[in-house]
Amino acid sequence: MNPSPFQYHRASTIDEALALLDQFGSEAKILAGGHSLLPVLKLRLAEPGHLIDIGEISALKGVTELAGGGIRVGALTTHEDLTRDPLVTRHAPVLAQASAEVGDRQVRNRGTLGGALAHADAAADQPAAILALDAVMIAQGPAGERRIPASEFFTGFLSTALEPDEILTAVEIPALPARTGSSYQKLANQASGYAIVGVAAMVTLDPDGRCESARIGVTGAVTPAIRAATAEAALAGKALTNGAIPVAAALVPNGLDILGDLHASEEYRRRVLTGLTERALRAAAAGA
Ligand SMILES: Cc1cc2nc3c(=O)[nH]c(=O)nc-3n(C[C@H](O)[C@H](O)[C@H](O)COP(=O)(O)OP(=O)(O)OC[C@H]3O[C@@H](n4cnc5c(N)ncnc54)[C@H](O)[C@@H]3O)c2cc1C
Repeated sequence: MNPSPFQYHRASTIDEALALLDQFGSEAKILAGGHSLLPVLKLRLAEPGHLIDIGEISALKGVTELAGGGIRVGALTTHEDLTRDPLVTRHAPVLAQASAEVGDRQVRNRGTLGGALAHADAAADQPAAILALDAVMIAQGPAGERRIPASEFFTGFLSTALEPDEILTAVEIPALPARTGSSYQKLANQASGYAIVGVAAMVTLDPDGRCESARIGVTGAVTPAIRAATAEAALAGKALTNGAIPVAAALVPNGLDILGDLHASEEYRRRVLTGLTERALRAAAAGA
């Protein structure tokens, strides 16, 4: 099916894009890589009268080091760039790993981090990594810049804390503490590549080798992507060489409304979630 007719606008600055958003209001949609938006338009699940292409805005591109440590990743950074950017692979290896899992090479070459996070597909890979990294989303709107913690960003099915008149401009990722390891583990839908279940784990050990902190981001199994707070708390202060990891992993599905659909039943996702969490935590602890 073809999309409904729309007027195309190319913004060359963030201010220009915000002015267009303000002008056309709910009739407008931001266009980044188009890899989620165009299928939505072709299926006529959305019929915006105006598309605002932000793809040429240079201020939204690139990865830079933050003064206090950590990195700022521009919203237009493609999935492929995330897999090989030296700052990302050093400061946020779990994001590089999750980005390498996105779709195929064509999707990774066009799709952007900002687009994936703003679209907030329940089966997208990067939300799990962003949650485990405790990243901060930078949104810009008419009232200026707003910082949204990753744990408050994903609010439901294809919905986020972004206001309709805001653009996601960047993601800030804090510096990794010493003795930190991470891992993203995924069971992919063999047709689309999306996550049936995806788990990102970050583990920081104290000087005695005990778990100082653990963060676990879950995608695919639940809507929206979430942090597995109970399992994280269960690991604090524990030596990770004993049975602590399987015990914590078994806690992850508890109390969650696990998805069941034609790709995988609820029971199957529940078991895979436990298994992948265990795998991600073991890999993260080994790298810490
Ligand atoms: C065949 C195929 C396979 C795929 N497989 C996977 C997979 O395995 N794993 C996975 O995670 N993803 C997968 N994807 C999705 C892919 O990652 C998309 O690129 C991504 O979800 C959207 O990024 P985009 O830049 O293309 O955004 P667009 O499609 O341009 O935009 C998506 C939505 O976000 C909004 N938006 C975009 N940028 C911004 C911004 N900066 N601020 C505010 N709103 C914005 C748009 O208005 C739109 O509503 C797949 C896609 C395809 C087509």
